[in-house]
Amino acid sequence: MKYLDEFRDPKLAKKIVAAIRNTVTRPWVIMEICGGQTHSIIKNGIDQVLPKEIELVHGPGCPVCVTPLEIIDKAIEIASRPEVIFTSFGDMLRVPGSRKDLFMVKSEGGDVRTVYSPLEAVKIARENPDREVVFFAVGFETTAPGNALAIHQAAQEGLTNFSELVSHVLVPPAMEALLSAPDNRVQGYLAAGHVCTVMGWEEYEPIAKKYKVPIVPTGFEPVDILEGILLVVKQLEEGRYEVENQYLRSVKREGNRPAQKLIKEIFEVTNRKWRGIGEIPSSGLKIRDKYADYDAEHKFDVGDIQTNEAEICISGIILQGLKKPKECPAFGKECSPSHPLGATMVSSEGACAAYFKYQRLQ
Ligand code: SF4
Repeated sequence: MKYLDEFRDPKLAKKIVAAIRNTVTRPWVIMEICGGQTHSIIKNGIDQVLPKEIELVHGPGCPVCVTPLEIIDKAIEIASRPEVIFTSFGDMLRVPGSRKDLFMVKSEGGDVRTVYSPLEAVKIARENPDREVVFFAVGFETTAPGNALAIHQAAQEGLTNFSELVSHVLVPPAMEALLSAPDNRVQGYLAAGHVCTVMGWEEYEPIAKKYKVPIVPTGFEPVDILEGILLVVKQLEEGRYEVENQYLRSVKREGNRPAQKLIKEIFEVTNRKWRGIGEIPSSGLKIRDKYADYDAEHKFDVGDIQTNEAEICISGIILQGLKKPKECPAFGKECSPSHPLGATMVSSEGACAAYFKYQRLQ
């Protein structure tokens, strides 16, 4: 299949691994931002074929993982109301809140529905004028245009029974927060290719320059990731700190301008709490006041919800690239995908879930 098979070609992959071996002369720590990349790295054993000088650490780019527990609890509270049809992508339904998950709300009689697009939720609102339809809008810059489009569409149609519960996060402020931490270990980034498809890479240029880190927008197939690592290693060895695009088939420097314009129309930048990490300034999106009627937090007053994470969990440290899942004492014991204790085990894109699935127990 075009754009797939050639990026899974074992011969090509071996050649790139050889090029990395020939290039590297000393230890480097490289972070892949995106959970999809983490999953691909562990699934394909990429970290195991690299020279010992290269250490890959796993970043915070898993939207399900970094959605705060308080927001999950708010979703559960809203979904439990009899007047509400609560809609979401399937991966959020099994994420445990403090006491239950959205599947449990459904089994107790709540009207919780899986949708494949936020526009499907708008359609449900159109067809059910006497019910309140809420869409759970989480994710990075990748999903923001679709979620903005749904609000735009609902506003155009004058629908008053549609709203979104928003927990959007932005990648560049998180990258910067990690780099400015006193214990930072990251020396180069594989940036998330799909985020860059929307946003381009202009935002990364000042970060690369300020912190002297190569940043390479990278795809998700094994050859993409190996190429991305090679580009980062070459820059590090040569003392260059630039943004260099690996994901040529999808990413342009300026990104997708119409999508960016739509995001700006509906959302504004806000401080956002990341599960496992804490609040990062200007790292999220919220619905603009102009569209407050489409903001579920505004429409349904659920108040402040306080939650406590499991004390044993070190997912915040893992998401900062400071430790690996197997260093957590609960990994594979008290904590597993069927009984997740923390952020990085709740989603299949989380580092702990990937290590568990692919049996990286040692
Ligand atoms: S294994 Fe579970 S408890 Fe340990 S860091 Fe990962 S998510 Fe947290």
